Amino acid sequence: NKIPVGISACLTGDAVRFDGGHKRLSFAMDELAPYVRFNPVCPEMAIGLPTPRPSLRLVKDSGGRISLRTGKSGNDTDLTESMQRFARERSRQLTDLCGFIVCAKSPSCGMERVRVYDGAGSRKNGVGLFCQVLMAELPWLPVEEDGRLQDALLRENFV
Ligand code: SF4
Repeated sequence: NKIPVGISACLTGDAVRFDGGHKRLSFAMDELAPYVRFNPVCPEMAIGLPTPRPSLRLVKDSGGRISLRTGKSGNDTDLTESMQRFARERSRQLTDLCGFIVCAKSPSCGMERVRVYDGAGSRKNGVGLFCQVLMAELPWLPVEEDGRLQDALLRENFV
């Protein structure tokens, strides 16, 4: 029986990124794959966005609220509720998972240090919205980023 692990779909090699590309993670797909049954999800495509698409961003308003948006012009689309709803529903279907590998820096999937824009510029202190809900709904689930799995100790801990 293979171990069930969730993964950002772009890390499996699926061309689901905003630019039509992928970010295949060879550690996962070549080394872990014999032992793991991957359960891939691209949250942005799951809420109905196409690929290619404009890149999304986390935007902080003057009241401190952070939203997931297609831009910051005021004419852009706020995808916060749509993503939160999807993430909650999906999390409830993932209770059998033993871990989740997310794509770093993404405003949807990133686990930490995601860029957040406000009137003054941007700071790398956000969490991707899908990942934030996932970690809140399944607090016992080990979650790790693709980049951090390059670190031998973190990789050992996760595995
Ligand atoms: Fe989709 Fe997440 Fe990969 Fe972005 S980082 S392409 S939302 S799976």
